[in-house]
Amino acid sequence: MPEKIKVVVNEDKCYLCGGCAGVCPTLAIEVHSTGWEFIQDKCISCRICINACPVGALSAEPLEVSE
Ligand code: SF4
Ligand code: SF4
Repeated sequence: MPEKIKVVVNEDKCYLCGGCAGVCPTLAIEVHSTGWEFIQDKCISCRICINACPVGALSAEPLEVSE
């Protein structure tokens, strides 16, 4: 199993193009005119969004999983 991640956005870089939301297979990212939103419960830690962002605004942080 890949490491579980939390996807975080650098709001200074993100221009809300919606590309990451478009490639996420589980719809774990929503991009609205008001901002970028990550839904942890839907994320499968595939990292596709991180590689897809044209300006490198996304990064992964390890997710603390409670035992
Ligand atoms: S692909 Fe990058 S720039 Fe576009 S909405 Fe997602 S994080 Fe923002
Ligand atoms: S890591 Fe994969 S599942 Fe999680 S938000 Fe990014 S594209 Fe979606």
